[in-house]
This record gives sequence, C-alpha cells and structure tokens, in this order.
Amino acid sequence: MSVEVEQEKKQDNTLVATLSMVRQAIDLAELSPEVYEHLKTPMRFVEVAIPVEMEDGSTRVFTGYRCQHNNVFGPYKGGLRYHPDVTIDSIKALSMWMTLKCSLVGVPFGGAKGAIVCDSQQLTVKEKERMTRSYVRSLGSILGPETDIPAPDVFTDAQTMAWIADEYSSNMREPSFGVVTGKPLAVGGCVGRNEATGRGVFFVAREAAKAFNIPFEDARIAIQGFGNVGSNAAKLFADSGCSVIAVSDVSGGVYNKEGLDICKLIDHVERTGYVKGFPDSQAIDNQELLAVDCDILVPAALENQLTESNAADVKAKIVVEGANGPTTPEADKILKENKVLVVPDILANSGGVTVSYFEWVQNNYGFRWDLATVNRRLEEKMAEAFKMVYHYYCEKCVDSDMRTGAYMYSIKRLAEAMHFRGWLNDKNGKY
Ligand code: NAD
Repeated sequence: MSVEVEQEKKQDNTLVATLSMVRQAIDLAELSPEVYEHLKTPMRFVEVAIPVEMEDGSTRVFTGYRCQHNNVFGPYKGGLRYHPDVTIDSIKALSMWMTLKCSLVGVPFGGAKGAIVCDSQQLTVKEKERMTRSYVRSLGSILGPETDIPAPDVFTDAQTMAWIADEYSSNMREPSFGVVTGKPLAVGGCVGRNEATGRGVFFVAREAAKAFNIPFEDARIAIQGFGNVGSNAAKLFADSGCSVIAVSDVSGGVYNKEGLDICKLIDHVERTGYVKGFPDSQAIDNQELLAVDCDILVPAALENQLTESNAADVKAKIVVEGANGPTTPEADKILKENKVLVVPDILANSGGVTVSYFEWVQNNYGFRWDLATVNRRLEEKMAEAFKMVYHYYCEKCVDSDMRTGAYMYSIKRLAEAMHFRGWLNDKNGKY
C-alpha cells in the first residue's frame, strides 16, 4: 500500500471513528436520534478551484475546501490548513471536532475547517499570497465575521490570516478584520493568541493533576512535539516548578530524569531546528518518549500516535491531548483498562479557539485587552470547562472514559440549542 493510500485510510477511519463516538454519546446521554442526523453531515461542504499565477508565469490550479459543519451556536469557526495529504474526510472530521470543541468550552461559534491541497513549503511567499487571495475570492460570500471565520492551522500563520483579512476587506470595500483570527497584532490580532493552545493545555493539566491528587509542583512531564503547542506548554510547566523530563519532535527525543532546562532547549531548537543533540540529555526515540515513566504525558504532535501497539506501555497517570486525535479508539480502551485518565483533545487544546473568540470580540467592539486580561480570562474558561466536564464524566460515565463524557456534555449543549432553534421534532419536549 502506498504511503498516500495508507494516510487516506487512516483519515477515513478518523471520520468513521468520530461519527461512531458521536452516535454512542447521543445514545448514552439519551438524546433524540435527530441530533445525530444534524451532526453526521456538514451543513455545507465547498470544493473550489484556486488558479494561481506561479513565479515562472505559468498558471497552476489548486484544490481548496471549506467545510462548515454546524452553526447552531453562531458563525462557523475553524482553521485553514495547507497540506498535500488533506482529504475530504479528514476536513469533515476536523470541522466536526471544532463544533464539539466550541460547544464544550462555551464559545458562541459553530465548527468549520478549510484546506488547500498543496505542498506549501515548495511555494514562494508571493505564490502563497496569490494562492491565499485566490482561495478567498473563490469562496466568495461564504466567509465573513458573522458567517465563517478562519484561523491558522498546519502551515498557515498570522501572515496568511492578514492576507485573508486584506482580500476580504478589499472585496467588501471596508476594513473587516474580524473575518479571521490569529492575525498579527498590527491588524487587530490578540496578545497571547500564539501561545494560547499551549497555555490552555497547561491549565487543563494542572486541573487534572488536582483531580488525581498529584502534587503539581512535583509532577514529571513528557511532551511529544515541540512546536507551537508543545514548546509553549513545556515552558509553562517548567516555570511552575514541574520537571519536564522528556521532549521529542520529528528528529527524535531527549530525556533527563532530573528535568530538562526548557529555556535552553528552546534556544537550542531556535539555533539548530530540532531537539536532537541537546546537551545534558539522553537521546530517545518517539516510541520511548510515549513510554517514559512520568505523571503527565502530553502528545502535541500528530494524530494516531497512541495506538493499540503502544498504549499498554504508557506509564503516565494522565494523558493531556494537546494534538488533535493523537489517541486511537483501540488505545483509548487500553488506557482506560490501565486507569490512565485521558483528557480529550476537544477539551485539552481548546485554548486556541477560546482566545480566537477573545480576538473576535475585541475586533467587533474595538477593544484592546492587555496580556494579563487575556491570560486570566483564558485560565478561568479552561479551569471551568475542565471542572464541568470532569464532574459530568464522574457523574454520568461510570463505565466510559472522559472522551465519552466530553462528547456527551458537548452534544447535550448542542441539542439544547437545536431544540430552542426549532431544529428538532421534539414535540414531547425530549431532545
Ligand atoms: P507545529 O507544526 O508548530 O509543531 C508540531 C511539532 O510536532 C513539531 O515539533 C514537529 O517536529 C513535531 N512532529 C512532527 N512529526 C512528528 C513525529 N512523527 N513524532 C514526533 N513529533 C513530531 O504544530 P502545532 O501548532 O504545535 O500543532 C500540534 C498539534 O496540535 C496538531 O495536532 C494541531 O492540530 C494541534 N492543535 C494546534 C493548535 C494551535 O493553536 N497551534 C490548536 C489546536 C490543536
């Protein structure tokens, strides 16, 4: 089987597994089956051709997608990804997770996701800019600050968002920067947005340690992935006295049982590009990282990292999913049997969309919050979301895991909103 086909199969499985989780949660929460009918299919899926003039004068036509999964709570919200391996099903699954995430954390957005199928690292900056602007023109009026609000995702960044804001504003003939979040500060971005997902992971891990009676200041942490999410979380763990004993990236991992110096490691990665070769550490591979003897394991790299072949090796008491979809359903079962608490992605990595919401609010009202205000509000939101979901899980899901509890909690809120908006045929009041 080719790598592409294997990748596609994995992603198709992700959508199938997510739909099966959604159905199970609806049954367990005793919600109307009509809720599943609303959630199983995106409200709108758009595929567009994106013509781009290349540096050599030729024209290439890329394929782009925007999946608007559900808007019962408000405008669609979700990242824009530039990657050669994206598939329609992977974008549908990611958009559904956004619906569940926004509902869970209580921000008034629906779920969406977008992508352009491309190897963006092979494009020049000008080609990327033309491609981004062409995507906005191709999507036309389906984007908008009250309609659908993209944000950065894999291989897109604040600059990409600024191009979208500019193209959209030109088309509307007025400045309308609230059409995207994750923008540079100079054009309406929000302080703290860049670190928000890692910061949210840290707050949730701290709450989970409390719930498990693990003294947080003494906790030993292992982190897979040292990019935006992993490195920002690592810094906060280290600053609060925890020992970050192992970290990895695509080059492999580094381990020191006394704790790694995270500031020096960040410097090392800035200089060399990778964690590999960091002094005062022992080299380990990514599988060894997942099996390190620690209290909290944070997968913050890719999907499908904890699987049925390595879940039994996990020694951590708590797994906090910084990445989207790092644990397969088979691994979930093994971790549950081994009494490992898995704090699911839709809760653990929702700090990014929460601060995106803060950015959108500030854009709409012309406010500028300072960093202390943003971080305090994020901390309140994340701590509250953890407590609500953990309490609900302990109360309702005696035989299930926290992911099931989070899905039930999130979908219950969605069902309530669908009920009041008149989307369900729930004459007897049951939804
Ligand atoms: P990033 O590109 O900044 O970092 C990814 C890190 O993972 C890098 O250190 C990379 O070297 C490492 N990595 C890649 N392949 C690996 C492998 N095979 N084994 C180990 N490490 C590997 O990405 P990010 O923004 O930090 O996102 C990481 C995850 O978090 C993704 O699943 C993303 O969808 C999810 N996420 C990110 C945000 C956000 O705001 N950035 C929000 C929600 C969820």
